[in-house]
Amino acid sequence: MSEIKKEKALEYHIGGKIGIEIKTPCNTQYELSLAYTPGVAHPCLEIAKDENLAFVYTNRANLVAVISDGTAVLGLGNIGPLAGKPVMEGKSVLFKKFANVDAFDIELDVHSVDEIVATCKAIAPTFGGINLEDIAAPQCFEIEKKLQAALDIPVFHDDQHGTAIITTAGLMNVLELTGKKAEEIKIVVNGAGAAGISCAKMYKALGVRHIVMCDSKGVISTSRDNLNQYKTEFAIDTDAKTLEDAIEGADMFLGLSVAGALTKEMVAKMAPEPIIFALANPTPEILPEEVAKVRDDVIMGTGRSDYPNQINNVLGFPFIFRGALDVRAKKITEKMKMAAANALAKLAKEPIPYYVKAAYKNENLVYGKEHIIPKPFNKEALIWVASAVAKCAVEEGVSRIDNYDHEAYKKQLRC
Ligand code: NAP
Ligand code: MG
Repeated sequence: MSEIKKEKALEYHIGGKIGIEIKTPCNTQYELSLAYTPGVAHPCLEIAKDENLAFVYTNRANLVAVISDGTAVLGLGNIGPLAGKPVMEGKSVLFKKFANVDAFDIELDVHSVDEIVATCKAIAPTFGGINLEDIAAPQCFEIEKKLQAALDIPVFHDDQHGTAIITTAGLMNVLELTGKKAEEIKIVVNGAGAAGISCAKMYKALGVRHIVMCDSKGVISTSRDNLNQYKTEFAIDTDAKTLEDAIEGADMFLGLSVAGALTKEMVAKMAPEPIIFALANPTPEILPEEVAKVRDDVIMGTGRSDYPNQINNVLGFPFIFRGALDVRAKKITEKMKMAAANALAKLAKEPIPYYVKAAYKNENLVYGKEHIIPKPFNKEALIWVASAVAKCAVEEGVSRIDNYDHEAYKKQLRC
C-alpha cells in the first residue's frame, strides 16, 4: 500500500471534505418565492396535516445524521468531538460516494447517555436515519437502545453492527468453503467492546453456540466479578482464564482488541482450517505474514486494504441506509442486518467485475479463501445489499411504503 504522507493528508482536508448543494433552481424572483416565502408555506401546511409528507417535500428521505461524541474515534481513542470531526465528515463522504445518501456530521459536546439521547431525539425530525459513530462502549449500547425505542427512524451504531454484518458474511462463506457447521464451531472473540459484543450476538443468531469472549483482563467467565451487563451475557462456565487457554482448538479468532494480541504460538493451537479476522486498527492482532510462518490452512482477514479479505465497514452502512431510506423504514431490524450479510456473502461468489480486478491489480481474483467477501469497489454491492435490506424491511412490516416492487427497485438502484 502506498504510504500516506502527513502533508498530503492535511492538504486533502483543507476546507473540509463535504459541502451542500441546492437541488432546485433558485435564479429568479419567481423561483425565490417558491423556495422560500410565500411558496414554502404550501409544503409546510401539507406536512402539518400529514407528517409522512416530510419524506416527499423535504430532504428527510435521503438525509442521515452521523452523530458522535468523539469518545472512541477510530483507533485514536477519546479525542473529543472536534478532533473527531474529520472522521465524521469522512463517513458522510462515503455515504454520498457509495450510495448517494446525504449525510450531515454532527459532533456533540455532551457525553452522558441521557444528554446524547435527548439531543438526538431533539434533532430527529430533520433526518430519515441516525448513524451513531465512534461512541465508547458500554454507553453506546444504552444510547442506541433508548433511541431505537424513542424514534421511528433507523438508529444504527455502525461500529457495532457494520462490523458484525460484514464479518458474518465472511463467516458464512468460510463455513461453506470448509464444510464446517455454525452449530459446531468454536469462536474466540477477543475484545468485548462495541464491535466484539455486536459480532458475538450476530454469530449466535447465525446458529453459533460455542463463543468464548475475552477482554483486557482475559476470558469472560462466570467466575469474574468485574463484568458489565453486556459482557455478562457472554460469560461462560470455564476454567480457561487467558486468550492462550481459550484459543485451543478454536475454529475462529475474531480480534477487535489491540495490536499484537494474537501470537504465532496461539495460531498453532487452533483447529484445522481456522479463520482469523484480526481487525484492530491500524495494526491488527497479528499480521498475515506472521500467521503464514506457522501454518498455511488459515483463512485470514484484516481491516486493511493491503491484504486479502478486507473487513471494511463501507461494504455495509451506505447500502444498508440506502435500502432503509428508500422504503422509509422505521428501524433496522435483526433480520434486515442478516439480509445484508447474506447479500454480501452471495455477492462474493459472483464473478468479480473487471474494474474490481483492475483496481486491485489482480486478474486472477476469484471466490475462495483469499476472497470471501466482496471488495469495497464492487458497484454491485449497492444493488445487492440495498435491495435485500429494503425487501426485508417491507416483509418485516417496518417500511412506510405499500407498493414495493423488488425488481423495479433493483433497476432503479442500477441507474
Ligand atoms: P472498544 O469498544 O473500545 O473495545 C475494545 C475492547 O478491546 C474492550 O473490550 C477491551 O477490554 C478490549 N481489549 C483491550 N486490550 C485487550 C487485550 N490486550 N486483549 C483482549 N482484549 C483487549 O473498541 P471497538 O469499537 O470494539 O473496536 C476495537 C478495535 O477493533 C479497534 O482497534 C477498532 O479500530 C477495530 N475495529 C475494526 C473494524 C474493521 O476493521 N472493520 C471494525 C470495528 C472495530 P476492556 O473491556 O477490558 O477494556
Ligand atoms: Mg467507527
